[in-house]
Amino acid sequence: MHDLVLTPVRVPPLTKELTGSWIRRATARYGLPAQDLLRGILAGRGRVQVTGTPSTGLELFLNTPARAELTRFTGLPLDRLTGLLPSLAATHERLVDDEIARAAWYVPRQAWVAACPPCTGRACQPGRPVLVYPEAAGHVCQRHQRWLLAHAENPASIPLRTLPEVLGAHRRHLVLVRAHPWGADAVVLAAAVVWSWQVQGWQSEAIWQDRVRRVAAVMRCSPTAVMPHALLPYPETIAVARLLVDHRWQQRLREAAAGDGLRSAAGLFLQEAGRRINRPWLTDWLTARTRVSCKDVVAGDPLHQWLQRITAATGITSDGLWTVSQTAARPIEYSDRASFLTQSRPRAVYDEAKEASLTGGWEPVPSPRPGPASSP
Ligand SMILES: [Zn+2]
Repeated sequence: MHDLVLTPVRVPPLTKELTGSWIRRATARYGLPAQDLLRGILAGRGRVQVTGTPSTGLELFLNTPARAELTRFTGLPLDRLTGLLPSLAATHERLVDDEIARAAWYVPRQAWVAACPPCTGRACQPGRPVLVYPEAAGHVCQRHQRWLLAHAENPASIPLRTLPEVLGAHRRHLVLVRAHPWGADAVVLAAAVVWSWQVQGWQSEAIWQDRVRRVAAVMRCSPTAVMPHALLPYPETIAVARLLVDHRWQQRLREAAAGDGLRSAAGLFLQEAGRRINRPWLTDWLTARTRVSCKDVVAGDPLHQWLQRITAATGITSDGLWTVSQTAARPIEYSDRASFLTQSRPRAVYDEAKEASLTGGWEPVPSPRPGPASSP
């Protein structure tokens, strides 16, 4: 009977679940404090030290001896466990790897979301959603048409029934990251490219304003609160990412640069990007903006930097092609983006957006995940 109670594999982890989410679900089902179960598992053969509590951090990190105890207890090999629970892949930098088992509750190191409730079935309990890492493109449930948000007690989401262009972009996003080894990195670069256009005043144009209105309506928020969210420029970001990874287009850009210089290649790219995102005015508009911009803006432009790399005589085939400089990247903080995109006070925008669970979750920013060629 004792063994039955202390067997968390009876509540199996879901794919890409936060270890902390799984431990909390496993213990809640038996009415146990998570900390008791954790100490029970880890104290199998010796001393154990647990830092923090489930209320101080959503994610649970284990050092090597603690991971060994977990595999022994569950009977699951470590590679199977790390396949389900990404945070187990490596020891957290604040945890010491020595002979005693150590565990710590910290904030997750990557973006997380509350999984789609209908898709997680009985694993999702009232007030206790399953928390998962969306990684490259797991932030949308196509089946139930939701953009999943980060809320630890409530499976918040943005309904996408009135946003078909977002669902379409996500289908193409999934194909992109499956087909291209650097697909996720191309999306991050594309987000920086679209961001560089947004901050030049693009937010006032009709297609984007219409999308802002539809998101604000379903979220019952003010338009300014939804403007900095990743959903708004998402369809354009995916369209640009697909163009960036297209080898035929890369070749055309090299030829254009070799014949008429980098400016000609940039013009060709923008013409095609404008056509794909239904903004035929994009090239002319950006050309006019560039004329009035200072040289530093052009030099820090992520598209300009990428074109320089792609047209370099030696050629770049590695991840170096997708690097985004810090100054060009889309700001990670919601309030930072709000300060560029809205006239409202960034703090007020942030507070309203946080109330609607819009400030966390998936973002097209570089993640600490290992590259496709390396193993955890
Ligand atoms: Zn679903």
